[in-house]
Amino acid sequence: MDHAQPADVLIRARHVLTCGPGGDLRDGAVLVRGGRIAGVDAFERLRAAAPDVEVVGDGTGILVPGFVSCHGHFSEGLVSGIGEAHTLWEWFAHVVGPLEAHLTREVALVGTLLRGAEMALSGVTTVADMFCAAPGAEPVTPGVVDGLERLGLRGDVSYGAADTPGPRPLGPLLAEHEALADAAAASRRSRFRVGLATVPESSDELVAATARLVADTGRLHVHLHEVREEVTQCRVTRGAAAIAFAERAGLLDGQTLAAHCVWLDDADIAVLRRRDVAVAHNPVSNMILASGVCPVPRLRREGLTVGLGLDGPASNDSQDMLETMKTAALLQKVHHLQATAITARDVVHMATIGGATALGMADEIGSLEPGKAADLVWLPEHSPSLAAIHDPYQKLVYCASVRDVARVWVDGEPVVADGRVLGVDVPDLLPRAHELAVRLAVDAGLDSELAR
Ligand SMILES: [Zn+2]
Repeated sequence: MDHAQPADVLIRARHVLTCGPGGDLRDGAVLVRGGRIAGVDAFERLRAAAPDVEVVGDGTGILVPGFVSCHGHFSEGLVSGIGEAHTLWEWFAHVVGPLEAHLTREVALVGTLLRGAEMALSGVTTVADMFCAAPGAEPVTPGVVDGLERLGLRGDVSYGAADTPGPRPLGPLLAEHEALADAAAASRRSRFRVGLATVPESSDELVAATARLVADTGRLHVHLHEVREEVTQCRVTRGAAAIAFAERAGLLDGQTLAAHCVWLDDADIAVLRRRDVAVAHNPVSNMILASGVCPVPRLRREGLTVGLGLDGPASNDSQDMLETMKTAALLQKVHHLQATAITARDVVHMATIGGATALGMADEIGSLEPGKAADLVWLPEHSPSLAAIHDPYQKLVYCASVRDVARVWVDGEPVVADGRVLGVDVPDLLPRAHELAVRLAVDAGLDSELAR
C-alpha cells in the first residue's frame, strides 16, 4: 500500500459538528493539510484562504469527527449471528470459549479485515480491540494490527489474557502481549494496551503480572461488572467485587478502559471516580446477552468518561456504529421511561470526543479542531433518510444508516469513498473468510450450520 502523504483537501458540509469548543457550523468546512486539521470555519472563508486546495463534498449533509469504538473483539470476526439464546456465561461456554484454541494469525487478519471494513463503513475511524485467544506456539494478535493497517484504521489494541479455569502457563500469555506490543510499535496507527479478559478468569499470578505490565505501560483494557454473576463470583472467591479487587491489586493504577460497568453500587462508582476509570458502554451487546443496563446518565453526571463500544461480532452482532448510537439512546429512554434520559447530542459526543477521552487520545482525535488528526466522516444529504435536516444530531442518531456514510478519512487519508471501503476488496475476501469460518465452526464444535 502506498503511504504517501494524503492530498490536502477542503471538506464542506451544511452541518459541521465539531464536538469541540468550536461548536456547530452552518455551511462550514474543514481544511486538511498534511493529514492534520488546519482550519475549521465557514466554507467561504476557508475557500478564500486556500483557493488551490481541492474541495470535497457538495455542501450538503453532516460532517463529524470519526467515530471511536471503545470496545470489541476481532477474535469473534468469523462468528457473528450465532448463540442468541445465551446469557454471557453460557454464551462464553458454548460460543466464544470453544473458539479460543483455534484462532490463528490468519483468522485474526481476515476477521479484522471483515469486521474492520464493516466498522469503517459505519464511520468508525478508531477501534479499541481486545483479542481473546488461547496462547499457542505462535502469537496470533499481530494479525489484528496487520488488518487495521490495511484498512487504514487507528487501533488501540490489546490481548485479553485469561488463565482460569485453565490452567494456562503465564509465559505464553506474556509472549502474546509482547508480540502485539511489537506489532503495534511497528505500525502506523495502532497503539498497544495491556489487556485482561476479566477478574474471575484470572489467577492471582496473572493479576499480579498484569498489574506489573500496567505499571510499565500505563494502560489497561478490562471487562468490569458486565453481569451479576461476575460480581457474585468475585465476592465469593476474592472477598470483594471485581472493581474493588482490581483497585486493591493495582490493576487500576494506569489509564483504565473498563468495558460494560453494568452492575454497579455506590462503592463501585466511587472507585471508578477515584481512579478516573473510563467506561466503554456497549448497548447492543448488553441487550443481546440480556446483561442489563449501564447507568450511563448517572455515570456522566458523576463526571465519569463514557464512550461507546460495538463489542464483538459474536455479541452485537453487527459492527455498525450508527446502530449502536441509536440503540444507546433508545435503551436509556425506555429504561428510565424518560424521553430526556439522554439526548442525541450526548450520544454523538460519546461516540466521538467521549470515546477519544476514554482511550486517553483526546489531544489527538475526537473533535474537529486545528492541530488534531484529520479523522472525519461525511454523510451527504443524498438519501431519503437524510433529507431535510431539522436537527443534525437527531438526524445522525435516529435517521442515518451505513448507507448514508459516503466518505471516511483517517489522518486525512481516505478509507471509505463513495460508500466503499478502500483498504480491502471485500468480495475478494469472502471465499477465504467462509472457508476459515467453516473450519473454525468444525474445530470448535459450534452449534452452526457451517459445522454440519
Ligand atoms: Zn467484550
